[in-house]
Amino acid sequence: MLAGGAYPAMLALNLLPAAPAHAFKLEGSGKGKHIIILGAGLAGMTVAYELGKLGYHCTILEARNRAGGRCWSIRKGASETETTNSHQTANFDNGLYFNAGPSRIPHHHELTMQYCKELGVPLEVYNNVNESTYYYSEGNGSLSNQKVRAREVHNDMRGYMSELLAKAVDQGQVDTSLSSEDAAKVIEYLRAEGGLDIDKLYKASARRGYLEAPGAGNKVGSVADPHKLADIIQSGLLDPDFYNVAEYTYELQMTMFQAVGGMDKIAQALEKQVGKSIKFGAEVTEVQNQPEGVKIIYKDKKGTQELTGDLCVCTLPLPVLSNINHNFSSDVSRAIDFVPYIQTGKIGLQFKRRFWEEDEHIFGGITHTNNELTQIFYPSNDYLSKKGALIGYYNFNEKAKAVGELSYKEREQLALQKGGMIHPQYPKEFENSFSVSWHKLPHSLGGWAVYSSDDRNTHYQALQKPEGQVYFAGEHMTYLTFNRLDGRGL
Ligand SMILES: Cc1cc2nc3c(=O)[nH]c(=O)nc-3n(C[C@H](O)[C@H](O)[C@H](O)COP(=O)(O)OP(=O)(O)OC[C@H]3O[C@@H](n4cnc5c(N)ncnc54)[C@H](O)[C@@H]3O)c2cc1C
Repeated sequence: MLAGGAYPAMLALNLLPAAPAHAFKLEGSGKGKHIIILGAGLAGMTVAYELGKLGYHCTILEARNRAGGRCWSIRKGASETETTNSHQTANFDNGLYFNAGPSRIPHHHELTMQYCKELGVPLEVYNNVNESTYYYSEGNGSLSNQKVRAREVHNDMRGYMSELLAKAVDQGQVDTSLSSEDAAKVIEYLRAEGGLDIDKLYKASARRGYLEAPGAGNKVGSVADPHKLADIIQSGLLDPDFYNVAEYTYELQMTMFQAVGGMDKIAQALEKQVGKSIKFGAEVTEVQNQPEGVKIIYKDKKGTQELTGDLCVCTLPLPVLSNINHNFSSDVSRAIDFVPYIQTGKIGLQFKRRFWEEDEHIFGGITHTNNELTQIFYPSNDYLSKKGALIGYYNFNEKAKAVGELSYKEREQLALQKGGMIHPQYPKEFENSFSVSWHKLPHSLGGWAVYSSDDRNTHYQALQKPEGQVYFAGEHMTYLTFNRLDGRGL
């Protein structure tokens, strides 16, 4: 995503052949040209890194006092102030962290992977799919208000759906012209897929886990009967909150990776290369195309400053840019003002003990709920160590909006109360928390751009073209913004 974000600007600068399959190999010389880059997120720093290789003189203006933007891992001392909440500082133990922004690198994000290789950022596997995690549905069904292992629901549903379909194929009710030979093959497939018995019925199966685990000697183990299909449905476990999307979505298919020690190690590696070009605490307030070159106005602790350059690469998130003075054309101005960003939030919770591993055999992966938490993410690192930090909620849209309105303390209480219904160990083991509402961070004002297909044909296209001497880059300049139908994201 980071390289994808920088790519359109470079393409527009005639520096790239189309569709790179590996990290940039740019040609040409930028000697004597001054490029002003707005924002020291991954896109801004990548631009400076690549253009710097060609001899361009780059200045990056960054409003925050840190680099990385959304690529931010929360460790002891991390701090932020939200638009409607005061300052908070993380108090995690040394060595503990959570990724407030990106936490997963899909294996097909070739450029990101290539940069990690080039810059020496070690990666480890991120366990995105874990059958041991839970589904927790608040409601009135007989499986509601209790934790149910994902493997039980997945395998029961796979079994019931296969059974239904096998019956339909048997009775010739499937609306395709299957030869009897093909129908037999389909039935064999359904029996294997659903774990059906010889009569093509779904019955108790070890796939959905054990009541008593098998072991040594004569400990044979015992399995339970499946949940009833009607109970699964009436308990809300077939609702969109629990769609089994993680395994299916292209972006979330295993193998996934994370940077060892926190995703912002990627930002730190880029900063090591281009740090000298970054002016921190420099908040851009105005972007002006001049007859030749650009003029940027920014505020720092000394007051209002002016900087001129030949070209500008602007990576500011659109909701931020929308509050900045500029002399862009009306098409570009409209695009900046109208493209919405998702509301999203996360809370990191530090615990004295990794009870999810010790007591419940959960090593990485995600628990899903239909309440405000939406998801609990278990760490994919430092397994079996003493303490741990997990992500106590990761929510979107209306739920993120409601939780974002709360104070930090209230968010913590909510995460502990709702999470405690799933993990009763919470009250005893909890130590401290840090929460982030991305739409409330003044230099982000949202998680990522959410384009409708109409917007892709209009606003998105307007931003693809250079605007005078200003080129747009960043997450919102890609098709990797991850606008799935359910509006969720990476
Ligand atoms: C909760 C969350 C989860 C995500 N999960 C994933 C994931 O798992 N995998 C994945 O690939 N992607 C994920 N993403 C997306 C990923 O984080 C972004 O695509 C990427 O970090 C964007 O980089 P950027 O450089 O385009 O923007 P940013 O990182 O936002 O950089 C913009 C920079 O501009 C600065 N800035 C803002 N205003 C001003 C101003 N007025 N003056 C100067 N500077 C300013 C900001 O401080 C920031 O440093 C996630 C994002 C979020 C929020």
